[in-house]
Amino acid sequence: MRNVRAFMPPQGLLIVAAYLPQQWDIRFIDENVRSATKADYQWADIVIVSGMHIQRPQINEINELAHQAGKITIVGGPSVSGCPEYYPDFDIVHIGELGDATDAMIEYIDCHTERPSQQVRFETQERLPLTEFPTPAYHKLALDRYFLANIQFSSGCPYRCEFCDIPELYGQNPRMKTPQQVLQELDAMLEAGNPGAVYFVDDNFVGNRRAVAELLPHLIDWQKSNGYPLQFACEATLNLAQSPKLLEMMREAYFCTVFCGIETPEPQALKAISKDQNLSLPILDAVKTLNKYGMEVVSGIIIGLDTDTPETADNILEFIRLSNIPMLTINLLYALPRTPLWRRLETEGRLILDESRESNVDFLMPYEEVVKMWQRCITEAYDPDFLYQRFAYQCEHTYPNRIKVPNSPARVSKKNIQKGLTMLGKILLRVGVFSNYRQTFWQMAKPALKKGKIEQVIHVGLVAHHLIKFTQECARGEESASFYSQKLRRS
Ligand code: SF4
Repeated sequence: MRNVRAFMPPQGLLIVAAYLPQQWDIRFIDENVRSATKADYQWADIVIVSGMHIQRPQINEINELAHQAGKITIVGGPSVSGCPEYYPDFDIVHIGELGDATDAMIEYIDCHTERPSQQVRFETQERLPLTEFPTPAYHKLALDRYFLANIQFSSGCPYRCEFCDIPELYGQNPRMKTPQQVLQELDAMLEAGNPGAVYFVDDNFVGNRRAVAELLPHLIDWQKSNGYPLQFACEATLNLAQSPKLLEMMREAYFCTVFCGIETPEPQALKAISKDQNLSLPILDAVKTLNKYGMEVVSGIIIGLDTDTPETADNILEFIRLSNIPMLTINLLYALPRTPLWRRLETEGRLILDESRESNVDFLMPYEEVVKMWQRCITEAYDPDFLYQRFAYQCEHTYPNRIKVPNSPARVSKKNIQKGLTMLGKILLRVGVFSNYRQTFWQMAKPALKKGKIEQVIHVGLVAHHLIKFTQECARGEESASFYSQKLRRS
């Protein structure tokens, strides 16, 4: 893990880099891996930036640095598309997905070398069909700097959860790439350096079940003919558990992790946030079904919903215990622009635009109490003993249900073995020797190592270590209670 600097490559920027005219000389920088230097700014004619809301201060800072170097600046991507007003100082804004606005913008850049006197805005009316998307510019990237690689098959989601901006930004009718495009992208990834694991970043991988059913046999064939070089993960709605045929194919394609937005175990809360799709079967049964197909579930949980009561934290912790889900992203509710939630809270006068708060929502429960509830859920969920108990369940009830993948040259290459041994060495040292929960770690690691389950020790040791560290940072007030909170990022 010596080289790993970031979780996943910036998929959107890689596509833009591939879409720009071939004769343009492009320098691709992911600031999660390394910051752009003065020399980079001086070298460029134009600085194109993209990012999510959480990166807003950094995006604006890049704009300032580029302007200091006298360069034209452009911002595109998810954050500016949702909130163009966040970026008043950029020279050019690109709103929406790749499409007619991108072509118009390229033409504009070709004809202008000076910064415009006022902001120029390009807004996509006609999106480029996903079937015409280029293969992301993986060759511009050091893939070994990332924990895992990512790929996109579809965009959009047919559901309408109250807090989510995906349907309004990307549509309710999922659009898809062809299976051949997906395979080409996987080939390009392998060529750039086998990342080991690939995450489908689709808003909802099973948003169009028929299309996924068509894709999966191609993925299975690709895995078989390449010696199963990759583990797959995806985001999907929990009702995937009602599609045994898809699940069987996902198992065969070696999907090992699925992120489900469970959000809350409280049925009345799910109804209130229009997440009825999670009510189509009992949540715990759905999680067990996914486990039966070898998939570890990662769950999103939201605290601060209007339906929350002082008992909510207990209910969430009990749900975590019963579901045995090891990893959960527990966040405070945050209202994103272009969502039904934003509009409702605006009408009710319950939006608080104060960046010193963890959330812009005026909760029905007292703010301090909601933040405390979040802290308690995180701290208890990632108590080392409790976390390792849930991983022990996964070792016994989930991982053995995966297919046995071959020891192919793609999997047991010298590079992979070296990478695995380096990771194992670091975990044994950092967790097995120096951590204050080393006893708990060895209870899992000793028998697993005796059985040769090295991958398991690496996976559990690494993920648990990060979660426990994250919790310690939360306890010290060094982490935000919401992905979207600007509080810490600014200070
Ligand atoms: S299912 Fe997921 S992607 Fe779809 S609207 Fe709900 S939260 Fe958004």
